[in-house]
Amino acid sequence: MKKALIIGSGFSGCMFAMMLKKKNWDVTVFDRAPMAGGGVRTFYHGGHPYTYGPRHFIGPDSNMKAFEFLNKIVPMRHIKKMNYSYQQEEDFFASYPMHIDDVKQFKNSNKIFAELDALPKETKSKNFEEFWIGRVGKTLYERFNKYYNLKAWNLKSNTEMDYGFEATVKRKPLETGSRYEFPSEHINAYPIAHDGYNKFFDVSLKDCNMMLSTEITDIDLDKNIIYTNNDKFEGDLIVSTTSPDFLFKNCWGELNYVGREFYKIVLPIENVLPKDVYFLYYPNENEQQTRVTEFKKFTQHKSKNSLITLEVPSMKNKLYPTMIAKDVDLAQKYLDALPPKIMSVGRMGTYRYVDIDDIIMQGLQFYEEL
Ligand SMILES: Cc1cc2nc3c(=O)[nH]c(=O)nc-3n(C[C@H](O)[C@H](O)[C@H](O)COP(=O)(O)OP(=O)(O)OC[C@H]3O[C@@H](n4cnc5c(N)ncnc54)[C@H](O)[C@@H]3O)c2cc1C
Repeated sequence: MKKALIIGSGFSGCMFAMMLKKKNWDVTVFDRAPMAGGGVRTFYHGGHPYTYGPRHFIGPDSNMKAFEFLNKIVPMRHIKKMNYSYQQEEDFFASYPMHIDDVKQFKNSNKIFAELDALPKETKSKNFEEFWIGRVGKTLYERFNKYYNLKAWNLKSNTEMDYGFEATVKRKPLETGSRYEFPSEHINAYPIAHDGYNKFFDVSLKDCNMMLSTEITDIDLDKNIIYTNNDKFEGDLIVSTTSPDFLFKNCWGELNYVGREFYKIVLPIENVLPKDVYFLYYPNENEQQTRVTEFKKFTQHKSKNSLITLEVPSMKNKLYPTMIAKDVDLAQKYLDALPPKIMSVGRMGTYRYVDIDDIIMQGLQFYEEL
């Protein structure tokens, strides 16, 4: 029986463990945390279920296969959601994506519409700032995107974010239709079960050897051996979900990530946010948080109180790979140097902004090729 060693029991570690088990591999999963699930595990605060970040299933129709796969293990409820963005200058919560009926109510709406009319139909962009100004003009960019992005990615200037923004930008008309529709999120769902995706972790790790509360401290890439503080394990395949620079002892430099602090607050009110509003975005310079989430909206938890979380960007943990070309290139250099029997998958592992649907698609493709 071939042996696989998996570093990390988050969504990607579990998905790859399940695929390997289905092909009769002997699978051992390591995680420094005492329980499986990584960032998608549901925890409880005063009986209120929550995850770190909203972690709803979102994806384009092309990832429907991923939805169907997950839905068989963890039945899902489709959600109809709106996002609000706090427009401090107006003391007004506008929906996001930007909607024409909201912008009409802004004090300087004439100037904004004149700016939109004057935009060229098409322009070239090299970075986040040019991309958004090309789409919606300077004022709306400053209102909705500028400070949100600077905060979210710990940047001094949005021109630093240059990976994936070298593009021909088409002027984007403001939304006029339903405020519930998100072009890139045709599937929008959340597990029905009170404990969210937790059953997925139990099912996928069934019959695997579990090494929880066990940190992988080193790896020998030539001999396929991973080390804990007091032991070593050899495998035919190593699947890593941690940052690829770790696998090479940062030999070409450390990869940059941005993290989050999550502040949990229970409020003495049954519903905090208006109906169908799941998130509030805070795009203003003088607010630390980027987002507020009301978990009840996702979990349907019944209580006379409600749990919200505030997400505050931080450099204390590694959650989001940047979209800065020099960081992406460095990650690629590490990934290209991996020997064939070591795979690096998941969000940190691929240094890509992958979501749950992408991870399932990666896992299903891996199964086909195994
Ligand atoms: C704040 C936030 C919100 C998000 N919201 C959504 C959303 O709404 N919808 C969506 O589809 N996607 C969302 N995502 C993305 C999605 O949740 C992630 O892409 C996915 O969960 C990543 O899973 P993973 O297994 O790659 O990583 P993780 O969940 O980070 O798991 C990695 C695991 O590896 C372990 N580990 C790391 N290093 C070691 C080591 N050396 N030794 C032992 N163990 C180790 C960690 O303890 C952790 O358990 C969000 C991401 C974030 C950060």
